[in-house]
Amino acid sequence: MALIRLAEVAGQERAKRLLRLAQSRGRTAHALLFHGPAGVGKKMTARAFAAFLLCQAQEGGDSCGRCPSCRKLAADNHPDLLVVRPEGAQIKIDQIRELKRTLAYASSEGGFRVVLLADIHQTMPRAEVANSLLKTLEEPPADTVFILTAVEAAGILPTIVSRCQGIPFYPLADELVRDRLLAGGLALDKAPEIAAISGGSLVRAREFAEGGLLASWGEVLSELLALSPVRPGAVERVFALAERIAGLKEELEAMLNLLQAWLMAALLAGAAGRAGGEEVLAAQRRWPPARLLVKLELLRLAQRQLRCNCNRAFVCEVLLWGLVTD
Ligand SMILES: [Zn+2]
Repeated sequence: MALIRLAEVAGQERAKRLLRLAQSRGRTAHALLFHGPAGVGKKMTARAFAAFLLCQAQEGGDSCGRCPSCRKLAADNHPDLLVVRPEGAQIKIDQIRELKRTLAYASSEGGFRVVLLADIHQTMPRAEVANSLLKTLEEPPADTVFILTAVEAAGILPTIVSRCQGIPFYPLADELVRDRLLAGGLALDKAPEIAAISGGSLVRAREFAEGGLLASWGEVLSELLALSPVRPGAVERVFALAERIAGLKEELEAMLNLLQAWLMAALLAGAAGRAGGEEVLAAQRRWPPARLLVKLELLRLAQRQLRCNCNRAFVCEVLLWGLVTD
């Protein structure tokens, strides 16, 4: 993985300012929790801040990109950056034990040591595993900084949250997402629409721009907007659409994310009186905010059920009925 510098992280100026300020005063907390929506740069910032802490020649509030430490990071080969990746879906208790054994020794380079634990709302759902980490979070070895990331702090054990300094991350501005898409040479003509529907998530916007999903997405949206449960043939059309979506395989999750972003954009556009894309406006005109909220809740339920390996076709049918109902 290439070295990432803080300056390269899109937006999140407040988070970056907080982190740099604490560091310049020698007051970086020993456990940080980056929390906020998915795809807005938490993991990227975690890597960039780790590089900053480990850099031997920091300059201008950032890593230098040239010192031995930066070069090791660029080669994905820095002994003092410990990335705990889940084995399978979750982090195992043995991995935490192993981490503790490693931390019992001094850092290799004599400076900071950084431990990254990403997406802990998914990778660390078991209290047993989280609890095994608590003591270390409370009394970490000297010069060790833990950086945890999570989508919203709500799903995480309060005991973990209380031992970390929370750093909030926010949705990115549409213009920033658009500019990054354009800079990446992606979907030049579609960049503004994609940005508008990305919910401030660059990851989601890229997912949207790159996949074959874009074509399906347009068709699914127009079919959804055209469907009304009271019209003849609605049952067959809803089932056909459900079958099509369920057949998306790995892209199903992205499709549901897009539906979520679309409804969220309709809700926010209504709240702020902002203009959105054509489909966003159509949704906003058709459903009042209370209905949009119900639909968003249905989407969350469907996402949860799919993660639990429920029957995909069935989950999609129930979801679509809920989505087309006025
Ligand atoms: Zn450096």
